[in-house]
Amino acid sequence: MTLNNYSHLLQKAVDAFAGLPGIGRKSALRLALFLLRQDRDFTHQFTADLDTFIDEIHFCEKCHNISDDTLCTICKDPQRDDSILCVVESIREVLAIERTGLYRGGYHVLGGLVSPMDGIGPDDLFLDDLPDRVQKEGIKEVLLALSTTMEGDTTNFYVYRLLEPLDVRVTIIARGISVGDELEYADEITLGRSIENRVDFSSTIKR
Ligand SMILES: [Zn+2]
Repeated sequence: MTLNNYSHLLQKAVDAFAGLPGIGRKSALRLALFLLRQDRDFTHQFTADLDTFIDEIHFCEKCHNISDDTLCTICKDPQRDDSILCVVESIREVLAIERTGLYRGGYHVLGGLVSPMDGIGPDDLFLDDLPDRVQKEGIKEVLLALSTTMEGDTTNFYVYRLLEPLDVRVTIIARGISVGDELEYADEITLGRSIENRVDFSSTIKR
């Protein structure tokens, strides 16, 4: 849909919305026209909130979760079990696991998965500091909770090899979730059960 003949300004706003995931050109036009009908204060507040979010958000220096401070609320919480770390892809999985209420340990957010097809190698993720954390923080168990995709499997194995020389138990959530399902979309009961029924990672690999 080109609006250039009508309004370059509208076209620019539509382009901005259409650049967001899941927003087609039609929805983008609807959103742009919606904003136009609102009070200017509404739109100014809306864009200011986004600016503040982008400018002020941190990544926790310990677990790399999204955070308002240098350390996230989970890392700062003295009530959490500091002997176990759960390795996840992103904050979406942190939120999903937190919703189960069945996990009280810490996290290590990778910021993605190893995916040679997409040119994402281990160096592009927060992996290097994981063995360091395990040693310095005296971690007894690392629980792998990545999605059951090829990229998830590749990453699981990479993390396992990275931690193999260390004195730490590496476990993986039970595969109650069918292959290919993203962890984020698993219901809380299924996800909770797969955390409780976690198994040693070494028992899941063929040597
Ligand atoms: Zn943290």
